[in-house]
Amino acid sequence: MRQYFLGMAAEYNFRRILKHTFARGREIDCSRLRQFLASKYGGETMLCKNGRSALALALKAYFEPGDAVIINGFTCYAVYEAVKAAKLIPIFADISKDDLNFEMKKFDTLLPKKPKGIIVQNSLGNPVDIVAIEKLTKKYDLMLIEDMAHCVGVKYSDGRECGTVGIAAAFSFGKDKVIDTISGGAVTFRVPVKHRIEAPNVTPKKSDHLRARFYPLFGGICRGLTQIHLGGLLMRFLVAIHWVEKSADNRLDLKRRISKFEAKLALEQFKALGRADESPIRRFYLVNNREEVLKQLAYAGYHFDGLWYKQPVSPERYYKKIHFPEETCPNSVYVAKHIINFPNYYSKSDLESAMRIIKPFLVEEDQWVGKTS
Ligand SMILES: *Cc1c(COP(=O)(O)O)cnc(C)c1O
Repeated sequence: MRQYFLGMAAEYNFRRILKHTFARGREIDCSRLRQFLASKYGGETMLCKNGRSALALALKAYFEPGDAVIINGFTCYAVYEAVKAAKLIPIFADISKDDLNFEMKKFDTLLPKKPKGIIVQNSLGNPVDIVAIEKLTKKYDLMLIEDMAHCVGVKYSDGRECGTVGIAAAFSFGKDKVIDTISGGAVTFRVPVKHRIEAPNVTPKKSDHLRARFYPLFGGICRGLTQIHLGGLLMRFLVAIHWVEKSADNRLDLKRRISKFEAKLALEQFKALGRADESPIRRFYLVNNREEVLKQLAYAGYHFDGLWYKQPVSPERYYKKIHFPEETCPNSVYVAKHIINFPNYYSKSDLESAMRIIKPFLVEEDQWVGKTS
């Protein structure tokens, strides 16, 4: 039986595992990546430990402590952490079930909280209605930050590329992102900053470096062992002894820099994106009885251990800390209970066979949400 995975470095085939494990980066790779991003996205660029640190630097550069910012009501803990690290107040905005981005008709309900800015994340690579958002940012004097974790290479409906609209763009090169070097990030300041930001310059911790270095190899071994039902066990063991770190636990650190080999690999991936004609959009479906769907998918060889979202702010173990406003974000709560999403490396035929399993469970018939591609 063929195995299809979400998580466990599933995007890494044998060749890519070797390449990652033995990649050697130099200082020049960091400056090349910095220059590439600076010219592609139009602004001074700093390389960071991960995406949340990049986002926190973007926020610190333009906002005052205590400012409120609007963030997507369906997001990753990393975003919340970045907002907190910059000493800002998050305003969770409910999402639309069609594209997992802001529900525009509820926008007015956020205004009493006096937002000073808005972070767009283009969830799973579905672009926001940027024209409408820009109108609002002008009308209410909001600073627009683009979180690029899901949407590198994606274009907005008016043809502009994600990352070229806001005052800053924050990139994550973490696991399962469009640019995936296991960890790493970058921030591009597209307009002059208000508060001077120190570029991260402390060498990565040895333990962090080694975890990033060997994760694809460990992931590959675990995937292999799934055939004899030991993969999950080994992965849990590796997490327990801290040889593998879950993405959400990757600490925010404004001072540490990226590993040099990650900078080298990230630049290669950015350049390859420009050439490939594939869309980075992650397909999602809303299903009833998700547990049953997952069971049937697993039986067919689709392993979904790392289901991206089970709560409006993932992962589950951080959700309680957040005091998420479930009453004002009903769609976010609903979607988190019903979503299944497929990574973009699945082939058409993989998707079609999964679709046969999913179809009877779709909350709306004929649903092919995220079909933008
Ligand atoms: C993953 C992610 C980030 C940043 O993640 P890091 O793990 O810190 O690199 C930021 N925003 C969103 C929406 C994400 O999914």
